[in-house]
Amino acid sequence: MIAPRYAAARLALAGLVASASAVTARGQAQLPPPLELRVPKAPTVAHGVDGAFLAYELHVTNFGAQPLTLRAVEVVSTDPAHRVLYSATDSTLLQGIARPGFTGAAAERSKIGGGMRGVVYMWIPVDTNRVPVSFRNRVRVEQGTGDSLRVQELEGPVVTTVRGGPVIGPPLRGGPWLAANGPNARSGHRRALIPTGGVPTIAQRFAIDWVKLNDSSTTFSGDRLKNESYYAEGNDALAVADGRVVEVKDSIPENVPGVNSRAVPITLETVGGNHVVIDIGGGYYAFYAHLKPGSLRVKVGDRVRRGQVVGLVGNTGNSTEPHLHFHVADAISPLGSEGVPYRLDRFELVGRCTSFGAGCTRDGPGPRRNEIPMGNAVVRFP
Ligand SMILES: [Zn+2]
Repeated sequence: MIAPRYAAARLALAGLVASASAVTARGQAQLPPPLELRVPKAPTVAHGVDGAFLAYELHVTNFGAQPLTLRAVEVVSTDPAHRVLYSATDSTLLQGIARPGFTGAAAERSKIGGGMRGVVYMWIPVDTNRVPVSFRNRVRVEQGTGDSLRVQELEGPVVTTVRGGPVIGPPLRGGPWLAANGPNARSGHRRALIPTGGVPTIAQRFAIDWVKLNDSSTTFSGDRLKNESYYAEGNDALAVADGRVVEVKDSIPENVPGVNSRAVPITLETVGGNHVVIDIGGGYYAFYAHLKPGSLRVKVGDRVRRGQVVGLVGNTGNSTEPHLHFHVADAISPLGSEGVPYRLDRFELVGRCTSFGAGCTRDGPGPRRNEIPMGNAVVRFP
């Protein structure tokens, strides 16, 4: 009895395919592209010096056998007009695409073979006063070549933007501090898509590596192989809000400053070096990494007040020189969580650098409120 019914089901399916092909202009079967368009973490609206922006990832998985090339990604409104709010094509799109595990030529990144996945790192400026409540992602893909070239579009499901995010105090005092590897479309932190426990997440999406500068924008003076030569070393790391300490790690020795030098093997447990995680309420967790061994002033379960010293800046774990890696995420795990934007309630924007300690200017614009410092900003805290 089972076999005939199964055969009937197959026939019905064949009929569906036939009717879909009947609507194409040239009589060819034309189903929608076999893609999954997924946004694992809906974006929380971020507020930087240059305005609001949305940072999220669009995962594009090819469920078909034929390779597809991603030619455009658009963000469109959910109203019937399908207004285009943002569009990325050509080199802009290529810069935003990664294929997990793929290290080949950049131009190949937009080609998503059968069974493969591309991740588009979206970074969209939006009008601070008119942030879309929801939107859809629309992709344009090409398949085949020459006469058999086929271009198709596909709109994904509705994505709802998240408002809020915590308003916090400074993680450090004084300065000037450089927001190294800070919020930026292409920073290493922003793209650290790491699977832990079977789920890929970006805990460091809005992380900053705070290094302290002198007047000539260098981070140390004297012997570059000594942690004590670095201006950041030993500075107080401060609780950014009232909260409760939920994780600490101490006793990892400091690295010798310099690329590729690590005092301990890097594992999930040691990657952040000596660290503190504070539950600051609202489902947000403040993460302080690379602290100096023996400098932690708190233990799990402690209640902390905003401004309280939690430990001293150091150079432990996956770190090349003394700095404070700070981020806010939606869970305790330093890597297995999703990074969310936060707003610093008060800081002074002293200037900017074009890269780590290079091309630095000190021309303001001065006091800022309720913003996240962007990558390579030079700031001073109260
Ligand atoms: Zn970092």
